[in-house]
This record gives sequence, structure tokens and C-alpha cells, in this order.
Amino acid sequence: MRDYSNVPVFILLGPPGAGKGTQAKVLEDQFGLIQLSTGDLLRQAVAAGTPAGNAAKSVMEAGGLVSDEIVINILRDRLADPDCAAGVILDGFPRTIPQAEALSDLLTSYGTQVHAAISLEVEDDAMVERISGRHTCDGCGEGYHETFKRPAVEGICDKCGSTKFRRRADDNADTVRRRLVAYHDETAPLISFYKKTGALQALDAMGDIGSITNELRQIVRPITINVRGVQVSDKITKTTQMEETQ
Ligand code: ADP
Ligand code: ADP
Ligand code: ZN
Repeated sequence: MRDYSNVPVFILLGPPGAGKGTQAKVLEDQFGLIQLSTGDLLRQAVAAGTPAGNAAKSVMEAGGLVSDEIVINILRDRLADPDCAAGVILDGFPRTIPQAEALSDLLTSYGTQVHAAISLEVEDDAMVERISGRHTCDGCGEGYHETFKRPAVEGICDKCGSTKFRRRADDNADTVRRRLVAYHDETAPLISFYKKTGALQALDAMGDIGSITNELRQIVRPITINVRGVQVSDKITKTTQMEETQ
């Protein structure tokens, strides 16, 4: 078993459309952390037609939660990849108490823990507005929004230049309603779970993308520096100081 004692672990909690994926990608770039999105991993498994993907497909289309067993196995496999030693941001996992317990056991076996579970708090109207304008680049997966995050040049992805974009099949009104119910029933209890462990940090996520990123950095930077230790920390401190003075 690898020693992950200097590996920072963050969770982004929040309902569908809260901005977890958007923020996880920015933090990945800025702090050299790895975004682990079970939604993305499941969509890849569906596209590849693996047994887990085939089992998950109809549940995802209906807006339900995929079984804990499938999701935990997918996460466990991905976490064992060497790049995760840089530190991880979990986006969309855990979504149930059994998943949170499995994660805790898994991280303990690696010698690390959840350092912060950051709850992105948004009002229902904003969530629906965010989901209804969401689309992603077909080439690289970069996320966009019709109103709140358009490419710098109309119709061309900022990251890869692709001119093709897609909307998620499950981002329709019916499915979103079901995903919200699943969130309130199964995932919201994680807020008390992480309050009890002392890892919970609640964040008002009603502002614009940039201001939320700034608030997240205030949480993520000191923890990352502290957990990683001196060498890597110096680099991050310098990089983020440069960004802040830009
Ligand atoms: P999640 O991963 O939590 O489901 P996303 O990160 O995919 O949410 O964001 C949903 C949509 O809302 C995307 O189109 C994204 O560009 C947009 N978005 C994200 N954060 C904000 C924000 N703070 N204000 C407005 N729109 C946002
Ligand atoms: P969103 O960005 O809207 O929060 P995700 O991309 O994270 O959605 O997830 C899409 C779908 O994948 C979910 O509606 C669910 O069916 C499935 N899924 C993703 N993560 C999990 C998980 N941790 N547990 C169970 N199902 C999951
Ligand atoms: Zn792209």
C-alpha cells in the first residue's frame, strides 16, 4: 500500500449544478491537485461499455444514484493511480453515507483523511438556471454556460479550439427534479456527517465563478501547503502569490 500521508484530500459537496466540476477544474490547475469526478468516471465507463458502465447507464439516465458498490469500486481503482499522490479533489463523491464511510476506511488505509469537505450552498432557482445553460466542449470536456461562462471567441473552445459542444442527456427538467430529490434524501445528510468529523466548511456559492474560486483558495491553499510539507509548498506559495499580484 502506498503512503499517502502527505496527500491532501478535498471534497466538493453540493447539489447538481452548484459548480463543483467548474471549481474542481480550476483548483486542479492552480494547486496541481487531481479532480476525481465519479460522474465523469461513470460516463467514461458507459461510453466504453464496461460491465459497471452498462449497469449504471439506465440509472444515470433516470436521474437516480448508481449503486454504492459500483461507485466505490470505480473510485477505489482511480485513487490507486500514481497521479493521485499529488492530492485529490473529489467532485460528486461521496453521495451517500455508506460511500462516505467507505471513503474514510480507504483513506485511513492509505494513511490520509478528508482534510476539508466544502459544501457549496446555492438556492434552488440558481441551480436550475445553472443546469439549464450547462454545456461542455466535445473535444476536451471544458465546461461552459450559455450566460455565465461563454468562450472568449464565440463558438470556439478556449482550451482546445473545438467548435463542437454538447449538452448532457440527463440535464433535462424531469431528470434534474429526480436528481434533486436524490440529493436531498441521500447526499444532504453528508453535511452533518462531515460536521461531526470536523471537516465541514460551508461556502455561500451564490456569487460569480471567480469570487467563489477565491474563497475556495483561502481554504485549499493553507491545507495543501500544510499537508504536503515544505518543498512543494514553497512552489505553490510563490505561484499563488504571483497570481494574486497579477
Ligand atoms: P456541478 O458539477 O456541481 O453539477 P458545474 O460545475 O457543471 O456544476 O456547473 C453547472 C453550470 O453552471 C455550468 O454551466 C457552469 O459553467 C455554471 N456555473 C458554475 N458555477 C457558476 C457560478 N458561480 N455562477 C454561474 N454559473 C456557474
Ligand atoms: P452533477 O454534476 O449534476 O452533480 P454528476 O456528473 O456528478 O452530476 O453525476 C451524474 C450522474 O452520475 C448522477 O446523477 C448519478 O446517476 C451518477 N453518479 C455520479 N456520482 C455518483 C455517486 N457518487 N453515487 C451514485 N451515483 C453517482
Ligand atoms: Zn475544448
